[in-house]
Amino acid sequence: MMKKQVTEADKQAVRDWKNAAIQDGWTCQPLNSDSRWKERWVKLQRDGFVVQVMTRDPVEGDLMRQSTEYDIAAWGPDGLALDVPYPYDWAAMQRNLLLCSECKRFVEKTVRVAFANRTCEKCAPALRAQMEKPGWYN
Ligand SMILES: [Zn+2]
Repeated sequence: MMKKQVTEADKQAVRDWKNAAIQDGWTCQPLNSDSRWKERWVKLQRDGFVVQVMTRDPVEGDLMRQSTEYDIAAWGPDGLALDVPYPYDWAAMQRNLLLCSECKRFVEKTVRVAFANRTCEKCAPALRAQMEKPGWYN
């Protein structure tokens, strides 16, 4: 998948998200970072929800390390991935437990597809056929 250019506004949105979550009572712990990169991983937790925030900037003078990545990934207490609302919004995160990642509709129940994808029961069969090919878990 092609990544779009990370703008200064994108970076700020990720930093603001993290700060807002911490102010809202999430616990924050640093994860291992690769010291060759100017990167920082943190894990935020609240009520069984888990969020990982990654910020990575290019290393000056190191041609192998020139990518910029600012990313937030979230999982619900059920272990399935969640759409991340921007800006940070705790109520929206809880609502997103019932948001299908595929058709973007709110449903009564979401189900697991592949490792941790959250979809509705309608979208699941097609997505499973696409993602859960023989050996998909290897
Ligand atoms: Zn769906």
